[in-house]
Amino acid sequence: MTRSLIELSDVTLRYGSSDNPEATLALARTDLVIDEGDFVALVGPSGCGKSTILKLIGGLLAPSSGGVIVNGREVGDPRRARIGLAFQNPTMLPWLTIRDNVMMPLKIVEPFRHEYRAKKKGEFAERAEALLAAVGLKGFGNKRPWQLSGGMLQRASLCRALIHEPQLLLLDEPFGALDQFTREELWATLQQLWMDKRPTVLLVTHDLREAAYLANRICVMSARPGRILEDRVVDFPRPRNVEMSYAPAFSELVQALRMRIAEARAPVSPAVAAAPATPTLEPAEQEAA
Ligand code: ADP
Ligand code: MG
Repeated sequence: MTRSLIELSDVTLRYGSSDNPEATLALARTDLVIDEGDFVALVGPSGCGKSTILKLIGGLLAPSSGGVIVNGREVGDPRRARIGLAFQNPTMLPWLTIRDNVMMPLKIVEPFRHEYRAKKKGEFAERAEALLAAVGLKGFGNKRPWQLSGGMLQRASLCRALIHEPQLLLLDEPFGALDQFTREELWATLQQLWMDKRPTVLLVTHDLREAAYLANRICVMSARPGRILEDRVVDFPRPRNVEMSYAPAFSELVQALRMRIAEARAPVSPAVAAAPATPTLEPAEQEAA
């Protein structure tokens, strides 16, 4: 039986105190339940609170009200799930090799931290090499970050997010800065990693094709203060590939999501609703995201 790993119930998040007129209400009455091992994409207008949800789940923020439970525990409980994180622009330490950057979480997260010190470094290095090979970076472990392209760095960043075998992978627009071809290659890589290891994944993206390719479920958020407006199951068979993303059923899904987000952004104007299908939001929004 599937078990829920994440439960947000009636969550409100305000940046700034409630008596401050400048305070921003980012989330209001948000509910979201995610099953263990699922792959969920979170999409919605820029500024609607997607990153805020990831930060709440990752324990980087506490809710103003409501409950955020991960693995049956509240924020601040050290026995919460092990979490891997990857963002749009991977920050790597330039003086370390790619392998050492990938191993960084092992130096920080218990129980690995302890084992790392207990001279298990060789074993961990092998684990890092195996992950690098799995994402097509075999032989790059000894390079420095500046010797890799953006796409390669993002692959390495996925390895770093996975090295400590997290139960939960939180990805915030991880491929947003990459060109279309590299992005599509990385969809296949991420899908394979998910199929092999089955972590629970929550992916924030503004690319609706990406959401439809990767996720089992897509949650569409309203404009700020964000709530989940729509929750869609995506049941295309796996492994999915780019050819499939041009099939009619796939395009229909992307178009339906796009319409939903257009509605969520603003009171619908006929011009917005009638605009032709494009898989992503407008560039201005991408920049602001
Ligand atoms: P998204 O990821 O969907 O684009 P965010 O979750 O980053 O949106 O932000 C939601 C809203 O909260 C936005 O209006 C944003 O400007 C605001 N916000 C985000 N972080 C902060 C912060 N640290 N302080 C004040 N306001 C913030
Ligand atoms: Mg964001």
